[in-house]
Amino acid sequence: SPPPASSTECCCVKVAVNVRPLIGDELAQGCRECVSVSPVTPQVQMGTHSFTFDSVYGSNGSPPSLMFEECVAPLVDGLFNGYNATVLAYGQTGSGKTYTMGTAFKDGTSNGLIPQVMTALFNKIDSLRRQMGFQLHVSFIEILKEEVLDLLDSAPLNRLANGTPGKVKPPVQIRESPNGVITLSGANEVPIATKEEMASCLEQGSLTRATGSTNMNDQSSRSHAIFTITLEQMHKISPISVVKDTVDEDMGEEYCCAKLHLVDLAGSERAKRTGSGGVRLKEGIHINRGLLALGNVISALGDEKKRKEGAHVPYRDSKLTRLLQDSLGGNSKTLMIACISPADINAEETLNTLKYANRAR
Ligand code: ADP
Ligand code: MG
Repeated sequence: SPPPASSTECCCVKVAVNVRPLIGDELAQGCRECVSVSPVTPQVQMGTHSFTFDSVYGSNGSPPSLMFEECVAPLVDGLFNGYNATVLAYGQTGSGKTYTMGTAFKDGTSNGLIPQVMTALFNKIDSLRRQMGFQLHVSFIEILKEEVLDLLDSAPLNRLANGTPGKVKPPVQIRESPNGVITLSGANEVPIATKEEMASCLEQGSLTRATGSTNMNDQSSRSHAIFTITLEQMHKISPISVVKDTVDEDMGEEYCCAKLHLVDLAGSERAKRTGSGGVRLKEGIHINRGLLALGNVISALGDEKKRKEGAHVPYRDSKLTRLLQDSLGGNSKTLMIACISPADINAEETLNTLKYANRAR
C-alpha cells in the first residue's frame, strides 16, 4: 500500500478549467465571449465574478496541449507507486467534456486525454519491463439513471433501442471488500497486453455508448461514462533489496495495484421539464444525484478542518461516488476539469460550472 499522504500536501483535489473556443453554432449566431482569463494567477472572470483555479487552459490561459503533461501525467506516474487516481470532466452538454477526455475515440484520431494516458502508460511500462511484471485490465461502464451498464459487453443486449437498460443481463453491482477496495461484479475486466488492445476497448465502448440510444447526444448528456485502467505490478526484485545492494530472495516479490478512473460526467445543465410523461424529469433527478453527491464529496474532501475532525464524506449518496469511493480522497489523487464554453448564450451554465468547480478547492 502507498505511504500516507504527507500533511503538507494539499487535499489532493486539483481543479483545472478548460475554456474551449467558440464553435460552429455559436459563431453562426454571432455570440460574444463572456469569459476572460488572467493566465498568471490563474483566474477566470465573468462579469463581476472572479475565480482562481490550479490551472486554466484555452482562451488566454495555458495551451490545452499542455494539460496532459501538467495535470494528468503525474497521475499516471502515481499509479506505479500505488496511488489510485480519478480524472473528472465536468460541464454542461456541449462544453467539451468528451473532446477533452477523448472518450469518443474513433479510428485512433482523438488526441484527448485518454489516448495520451495510454501512450504514457505503455512508454513507462516498456521502460520498466526488465525489473517488473505488469498486468493491465480495462473496464468501461456507464451510469444511467443510477444503473451501471457495461459498455464492453460484447453483445449489448442489456440495452433496448431507446437506450434504457433492459432485463436481459443482471445489472452490474458495485461491491466493497473488507479492506475498502471497490470492485464491479458483472462488468467485463478486459486483460490488456498492448496499447492497441486498450485503444480498441475505448473505441468499442464508445460505439456501444453511442448506439445504445436513438439520439447519441441525448444519451451521453444524461450518463456518466467511466473508463478504468487497473495496473498490477510485481517487482521482480524488491526495490528495498536493490537499495541495500543485497538480493534477499524472500523479498523477491512485491505486489502493487492501482487504478485510474477517467470520467466523462453527465451534462451539468438542469433537467429540462419538457419530456413527455415526466420521463425526462425523473432521469434529470437521477443525474443530478451523481453530480450533487460528487460535489458534496469533493467539497468535504477539500475542507481540511472538517477532514481532520473526521467529518462524514457522503460517498454512499450515489452510484457514481460509491464507485469512485476508493479513488477519491485518502491517498488518491483527483483532477477535476471544469469544461466551459466562452459564449454569452451559455453564461448562466458557465457560471454554475465555475461555482461548482470552485467548491472543490
Ligand atoms: P460535451 O461532451 O461536453 O457535450 P463535446 O466534447 O461533445 O461536449 O464538444 C461539443 C462540441 O465542441 C463538439 O463539436 C466538439 O468537437 C467541439 N469542441 C469541444 N472542445 C473543443 C476544442 N477545445 N476545440 C475545438 N472544438 C471543440
Ligand atoms: Mg459528451
